[in-house]
This record gives sequence, structure tokens and C-alpha cells, in this order.
Amino acid sequence: MDNVQAYARIEELKAVLKENSRLYYVQNAPVISDFEYDSLMHELESLEAQYPQYATEDSPARRVGSDLESGFRKFPHKYPMLSLSNTYSIAEVEEFTDRVSKSVDRPFTYSAELKYDGTAICLTYRGGKLWRALTRGDGVQGDDVTANALHISNIPHYLQGKGWPQEFEIRGEVLMPYESFERLNREREIQEEQPFANPRNAASGSLKLLDSEEVGRRGLFCMLYHIPAGLVDYPTHDAALSAAGEWGLPVSKDRKICRGIEDIEDFISYWDNERKALPYATDGIVIKVNELDIQSTLGYTAKSPRWAVAYKYKAEQALTPILSIDYQVGRTGAVTPVANLEPVFISGTMVKRATLVNEDQIRALDIHEGDWVYVEKGGEIIPKITGVEESKRSPGAVIPRFPSLCPDCGTPLVRMEGEAKWFCPNTEGCPTQIKGRLEHFVSRKAMNILCGEATIDQLYSLGLASRPSQLYSLNPAQLLTMEGWKEKSAKRFLDSVKASKAVPFERVLFALGIRFVGESTAKDIARHFGSIQAVAGASKVDLLEVPEVGEVIAGSVFDFFRKEENISEIEALKEAGLNFTLEEKKAPTSNALEGKTIVVSGNFSISRDDMKALIEAAGGKNSSSVSAKTSYLLAGEKPGPEKLRKAAELGVEVIDEKRLREIIGETAPEEKNEDLFEPTLF
Ligand code: NAD
Repeated sequence: MDNVQAYARIEELKAVLKENSRLYYVQNAPVISDFEYDSLMHELESLEAQYPQYATEDSPARRVGSDLESGFRKFPHKYPMLSLSNTYSIAEVEEFTDRVSKSVDRPFTYSAELKYDGTAICLTYRGGKLWRALTRGDGVQGDDVTANALHISNIPHYLQGKGWPQEFEIRGEVLMPYESFERLNREREIQEEQPFANPRNAASGSLKLLDSEEVGRRGLFCMLYHIPAGLVDYPTHDAALSAAGEWGLPVSKDRKICRGIEDIEDFISYWDNERKALPYATDGIVIKVNELDIQSTLGYTAKSPRWAVAYKYKAEQALTPILSIDYQVGRTGAVTPVANLEPVFISGTMVKRATLVNEDQIRALDIHEGDWVYVEKGGEIIPKITGVEESKRSPGAVIPRFPSLCPDCGTPLVRMEGEAKWFCPNTEGCPTQIKGRLEHFVSRKAMNILCGEATIDQLYSLGLASRPSQLYSLNPAQLLTMEGWKEKSAKRFLDSVKASKAVPFERVLFALGIRFVGESTAKDIARHFGSIQAVAGASKVDLLEVPEVGEVIAGSVFDFFRKEENISEIEALKEAGLNFTLEEKKAPTSNALEGKTIVVSGNFSISRDDMKALIEAAGGKNSSSVSAKTSYLLAGEKPGPEKLRKAAELGVEVIDEKRLREIIGETAPEEKNEDLFEPTLF
């Protein structure tokens, strides 16, 4: 691999990992398996180690995936909430214990415990009362979910017994037992809502509900497993957890003190089977150095503690024959081979189809028609074929021929340089692509128009809509020509089309379906540029200035705005009245920032430049670095960790957008959470 190829691959991996991380943590709807995600992450880590000149601060290899969402107040963590380095191999666990033994010169022990597969939470108790519950967020700050945590049945509102510190925090996992998960999914199916892929996503989605009463009905529970060293006065992690158990906190009991790798291996192999009988999901074992002073000495990397490692169990596998292969076209024109399988039961569900990813993957696995294949389904939705059982191959079995024509519209497929997939280039005429774009446009996270796949099908086949802008000129008479439609359904649909005109610019930008531009990237781009004209006119270099945008995304956005059909569609949508600029800032009502110096960091509901203008209009002065003279650090989403650290060191008050708007006499537009606790951040 030369430098150019390495750079391109690093950029590609970063874009793919970021998008999948968002799908996993924010949308709770992963589309690739954890194993696949971890393999891509390991590839990125090793490329960045080989080509350090291309490793950037914002690389997913150096940051924990973020679950931050608007609608929640954000508070910084006292100690960063990190991830765990993980491995699927016992040999690497042994490397970990060897490494630790070499740097510790006295006898010590490990605590081996279950790795709960839920969503992380940090609880702070003050004066024996639950004071605050934060999600992991981006590791530096978390979303405030206190109101919801109070509705989780086994999280005590008050501690019992004695000996608890006046203030301390304890971390753990919020889980949804299989039984509650199945009940919830049955209810969602009845209400025609997308079921959750697995209990982890269901737990994480439920913890972020804005309706706390509903959280209480979801059957969540909590398992606590970590008190940061320095917050309590115990010699070991195990002793600290046992004390927490006596204060009434739900600490994990399935843990064992291990003296070395043999004990750890025994624990791993014991739970490999036993965990299948547990009523909730676990995905591995966590091995931690037990002595808290040694934990402190070993410290942390940017992403995980050096004193712990997670051993992950491989996803369950089954062997079954391929019945046939379908070639599916997506909304971007990419063609994905999907195998129809003899149904087989894996990890609690019946699997009938599995992705073969792309042509290279079919070759790499050496798949022949009718082969018996190994199928895996871990915590993910789409099962994957991971290998072939050659001994079961029928004589004369042939290699499947990847189609040369689009299975939908018959256009010759193309494969661009550097692309792993074949594409149908007939963007404007291929029905699946057209309908896919409409489906994306109306989806809940985009324009939120009440319209399912069947409606799109009808609208398209009756010639009523093939471009999103046409949805805005539909009338009731046209809709009544569709099968099963009555005046009431037509009205409901048209009302939602009308309501979509109020959808903010960042979601409109996401709805346009620009390749690689997911929900959070669209937000970043919208906030950076402020209007569609500015995005359309941006050069690739300008686009690269947006946080989290690399070469691949910049190239895709740039190309999108160079296509005539996209420009004319945007014009038509503008005429229909959609938002193509960020909401106008409201005039400040006071001179409340007179004499104050403010440092702005992170993303806000308006662009950073608009935020600075707002501060100046209220009499404040902007500064780029935190010093003793700084009055406030204004921290939005994903603030710079260095700025937060400096502010904490110098005692500079950190405020969020809501607080700033309160100071200048406005109310933040998107604040929905109840203000249960003190308004300041520290
Ligand atoms: P992780 O889930 O691999 O491990 C770290 C987490 O384990 C901790 O943050 C904590 O929440 C949890 N945990 C459970 N039991 C614990 C215990 N006893 N002690 C300490 N911690 C415990 O790491 P992560 O950073 O939360 O997630 C990264 C992983 O998520 C990736 O390795 C990948 O497998 C998966 N992921 C998958 C996708 C996808 O698209 N499939 C996308 C992003 C992330």
C-alpha cells in the first residue's frame, strides 16, 4: 500500500466507522455486526500506527462513540467515561496479563466479571440521594437522564446503611431483559413501528425517551460495576463494589477474584455456556486489575483504561445451505447479494436470509451455488455468512455469476475505482433507486412525512411522485385514486406533508440523501455553513473544515451539488417552502454579557459564527482560548476536551447554550427536559 492508498483507506474507514457508530449509539439501529465493526476498527488502528502522519484527533480510533442527543441537558463527567480495549482471543488476554505483570512489582489480583450488553450509565449520589444520572455521551460529557433513571426499578433513590461518602459516583449498565424486549417488540409491531434489533438497542433507546413514565413501563434494570478510583476509600475494586452492595446499590455479583491467566480462562469458559441461561444479554467477560492504587498507576489511553480488557464471545454460528441468491439494489444504486437460506435458529431467532456483502466477499469466501455455509448472528440485525463447509459441496457446483445488468431496470452495472460494490448508474430511471430516495426523504429522522413503503410504491407506480418535490403538489383528488385511500387518510398524509415544511435545515439536508451524509454529518455541515447556497458553493477544502468531514464525505457533497438534476430538485423544494437556511437568530433582549469574555466550543443549535455574533450583540467578547480572564466556557455538543480540562483547572464556569440564552434573556429552542437540578454545570 502506498501513501495515497493508505490515506484514502484511512479516510474511508473513518467515514464508515463514524456513520456506523452513529447508527449504533444514537439511532440504536446498527447495520453491521460488532465483529465487523471491531475488525474495521482494528484495521484503522493498525493503519494509523503505520502511517501516523494521517492519524487525526477526531479519529474514531481515539474517541469513544458518542450517544449525545439534542433534547437532553449535557453535563461533564468528573472522570472521562471511556470504552474498554477488547479482544476475541484468549492469547490477547494473556498478552494483557503479561503486560500488567511486567509493570507491577508486587503481588496483585484481577477481578473477572460479566460484560453486560446494555448501555452505560453514571449515577452520582449526594448526601445519600440520587442526584444525577448521565449517559456516557462522548466520554467527556453525557446526556442528563436523571428523570428517567428515577423510573428504573432497581436504582435506589436513597442509599441505605452507613459509610457512604457524602458524594460519589458509580457506573454500570442499563439493561433490558429478554422478556421485556420481546414484549416491547410485539407491541411495536402491532403499532407498525420498527422493532428494536436487540435488547442493547432497546435499552439504549428507552433510556433516551423524553417520557419518563414510559421509561418506567419498559422493564429496564441496572447492574453497577465500577466506582472510579479516588472516589472511595477502599483498597480494591471488589471491596468498593461490595460496600456499594451494602448501601443498596445493584452491583454485579457474578464476579471472581483471579490470581492469573488460568483462573481467568476458567471463568471465561465457565460463562461461555452459563451465560446462555441468563435472562439478559452479556457479550463477554471484563478483566480488571483489582487493586485501586495499581489501577491509578496504570492509568488510561485516550480511549480506554490500561488496567482492564474485555474478552468478547464470538457470535453464535449455524450451518445451513444456500437456496438461492438475490441481488438487491439500494437507494444509492449499490447492488448487494443476499443469500436465501434454509431457515435455521440462531441466538433466539429464525434466520432465513443473510448478506453476502459484495462480489469480492463472494470470491473471498469461495461461495458456490447450493453451498452449506456458516451463518452468524450476534447483537446485529442482518445475519452474515462467515464461511463455507467445503466437505458438503455438491460435485459440479458452480460459482454464482454476479449480474452485469441491474436486476431492477436492466442498465449495465458499473464498478468505480476504489469501490467494493457494483452500482446501477441509472440514478434517474431505476425504480428501486427512485423509491429508495423517496423513502429516505419521508423517513422519521428526515422530513417525517406519514408515508410507508406501500404508499411510495403506489405514488410511484401511478406516476404521482418520483421526486420528493412532487409530494408537495399532490392534491386530495389524486390521492383518492390510490387503492384503499379515503378522505381521512389523504388529509392525514397532506397534513404531514405541510408540517414537514417546518423541519429545520439540517434535517432537510439529511433528507436530500447525499451519499455518506448521515444525520449527524448533515447537522455539522448545516451548522457550519448556515445555508444551502453556502454548502452548494463550498469547495472541497471548505468542506474539509467541517468537524468530522474527511475526503470521502467532502468529495461526495461536492459532487452532489455539481449535478444539474440535484440543483433543479433543490430549487423545486425551495419553491415548495422547505427550510434551506438555519433558523434566524433571535435578537438578544439584554446587554447581559457586558464585560464578559467567552470561549465558544462545540456545536450549537445555530452555527458557531452565529453564536459568536449573538454573544457580541449581547455585549460580550469572544476569545479563542481559555485563560484566567475567561468568564465562561460556552460548551455545546462535542466541545474540545482540552478546553474543558483547562476550564476545570482554572475554575472557569462552563455553561451550555440554554444557560447562555437564559443569561441574555432568551429561551433555548430545543430544551425539553425538566430542570430538576441545579442549573450550573459543576
Ligand atoms: P464495548 O461495549 O466493547 O465495551 C465497553 C463497555 O462495556 C463499557 O463502556 C461499559 O459500558 C460496558 N460494560 C459492560 N459490563 C462491564 C463491566 N463489568 N465492567 C466494565 N464495563 C462494562 O465498548 P463501547 O465503547 O461501548 O462500544 C464499542 C463496541 O460497540 C465496539 O467494539 C463494537 O463491538 C460495538 N459497536 C458496534 C457497532 C456496529 O455498527 N455494530 C457500531 C459501534 C460500536
